[in-house]
Amino acid sequence: MADGGSGAASRSGPPTAWIGTSWKMTKTLAQARAFSGALVDVPWAAGLQPFVIPPATAIATVAELLPPGGPVLVGAQDAHWEDEGPWTGEVSVPQVKDAGARLLEIGHSERRAHFGETDERVNLKVQAALRHGLLPLVCVGEDAGQRAAGSAVDVVSAQVRAALDGVPDHAQVLLAYEPVWAIGASGTPAEPEDIAEVVASIVAVGQGRPVLYGGSVALDNATGLIDVAGVDGLFVGRAAWDAADFVALAEIVAQRST
Ligand code: PEP
Repeated sequence: MADGGSGAASRSGPPTAWIGTSWKMTKTLAQARAFSGALVDVPWAAGLQPFVIPPATAIATVAELLPPGGPVLVGAQDAHWEDEGPWTGEVSVPQVKDAGARLLEIGHSERRAHFGETDERVNLKVQAALRHGLLPLVCVGEDAGQRAAGSAVDVVSAQVRAALDGVPDHAQVLLAYEPVWAIGASGTPAEPEDIAEVVASIVAVGQGRPVLYGGSVALDNATGLIDVAGVDGLFVGRAAWDAADFVALAEIVAQRST
């Protein structure tokens, strides 16, 4: 299994498996504190790297309980590619790092669909994250029409290639395969056989970098999805927004992968 890199918490050796959640635009500070507090004393399996990606408002609160260097990585859902400047409403990589983030989610399909996140911007953000020592987590995935047209591998391979353009081979980047048709309340959960070929293509184009799967992952389908060849972890939305469920998903990943 691939080396996830120095952006991850330093325990004994690089992670062999990953479990993470993005809270999207949910949770108050009190809710963020409750979730994070519930993770503080969890005996995470060796080799498993958990991560939590709160909204920007809660990064510092979460990082107080789950500090940099501890077993749980804290991330940001997005950041601008410039370090500072007249970009009202945006936050920069140095700012999210200052708040406690050590991972940066980039290119989620909701950002690509609603906020003009192009492949070019994804690449700029990957470069910005690496420049400041954050671990980029690049989301890629085809939509329903592209899958129906048989172009999923081509679409996703192009997204990965663009994200990694100019990125040195040794640079550590996580790749999350999140088919758009599988994400969110209106998504259709994928079967393992639906994702195997695209995952294999990401492993090839990504030169062995860790590949996480996301999209309607839940307790009842996590085992089948983590067992797909080339999947090094799970990236979960709704089903992991309760801390006990997050820990239960972490145990499934650890059992199958570490
Ligand atoms: C996501 O939006 O990245 C995601 C994985 O969401 P969900 O698990 O809720 O489908």
